[in-house]
Amino acid sequence: MLNIFFAAGQKNWVSYEAPLKQALTEARISARIMTETPSSPETVDYIIFAPNGVISDFTPYSGTRAVLSLWAGVEKLVTNKTLSQPLCRMVDPGLTEGMVEYVVGHVLRHHLGMDLHIVNRTHRWDPTCPPLARERPVGVMGMGALGAAVIKALKALNFPVSAWGRSPKDGLDIPYYYGNDGLKTLLNGTQILVTLLPDTAQTIGLLNAERFGFLPKGAVLINPGRGTLIVDAALIAALDKGVLSHATLDVFHQEPLVQDHPFWRHPKVTITPHVAADTRSESASRVVVENIWRSETGLPLLHRVDLARGY
Ligand code: NAP
Repeated sequence: MLNIFFAAGQKNWVSYEAPLKQALTEARISARIMTETPSSPETVDYIIFAPNGVISDFTPYSGTRAVLSLWAGVEKLVTNKTLSQPLCRMVDPGLTEGMVEYVVGHVLRHHLGMDLHIVNRTHRWDPTCPPLARERPVGVMGMGALGAAVIKALKALNFPVSAWGRSPKDGLDIPYYYGNDGLKTLLNGTQILVTLLPDTAQTIGLLNAERFGFLPKGAVLINPGRGTLIVDAALIAALDKGVLSHATLDVFHQEPLVQDHPFWRHPKVTITPHVAADTRSESASRVVVENIWRSETGLPLLHRVDLARGY
């Protein structure tokens, strides 16, 4: 019998209890699930974790074979010096589906000029049609689990999509760039920029004044990745100068976004409260249990985080 510590908080337990137990039964894994800090932490085989959970020191969990995060972004975990156990982040089909819907919705809003062309309130009669999607280049920074799914959906709508990542990749059917020069090339050719990068030491402040300047005038930014990517003052300056025409932001340096932040009152900023995509308990429970099953069967864990790389 395995000992599993559900250290993701009581609120999550309400939605995870039934699907997690179901997934364990289907995988024929016999387990005792604890939701309170165990008296013998060294006997815990697996930890299911969320940042709002109850563990800050992983040292006592000396027998734990994996920490399984319910979140895709693991920046709070990789910087925890007490974590020596293998860490897996969440790659959940439900979360991916949600992110695709969020990005496609916001790309279409800007591409179609919905704010301008829904004229019930403005009575502004300008029958100039927007271009077709095939004429609107979209750039995606980050071609991981989420970026790749978003790219597939945008391509299906005919948007010419290019991407940028950290490492070289072969055999792709879209233009793909990496490195500093590659980023400049991507930005030069992008009218709608979607950013799906993790929060690491290398991505903090990546979108600064110089890089906003590489975008064609009037470009749009959609950031559902992490807020630390953006130099906020540089973004506001780029919007004020017309370098960018709009920014849709789901994530921020500090969340909730502080009340006196200039984003709140900026007419060219759309704020959503970190709702782009949530882990879905049914599909995520199956991902967690698959990893437990793999570990128990001697197979390598899926979605293993490289602690040094930070994602
Ligand atoms: P992922 O699979 O780990 O992919 C990360 C991508 O970023 C990879 O393509 C990686 O490049 C690239 N990357 C990492 N560091 C880079 C750097 N220094 N320079 C250039 N590219 C870099 O992550 P994911 O599942 O797609 O998720 C991406 C992020 O979305 C998460 O980390 C999380 O912060 C955020 N997120 C937000 C929400 C929300 O509701 N707003 C929900 C879920 C996730 P390589 O391919 O070369 O390794």
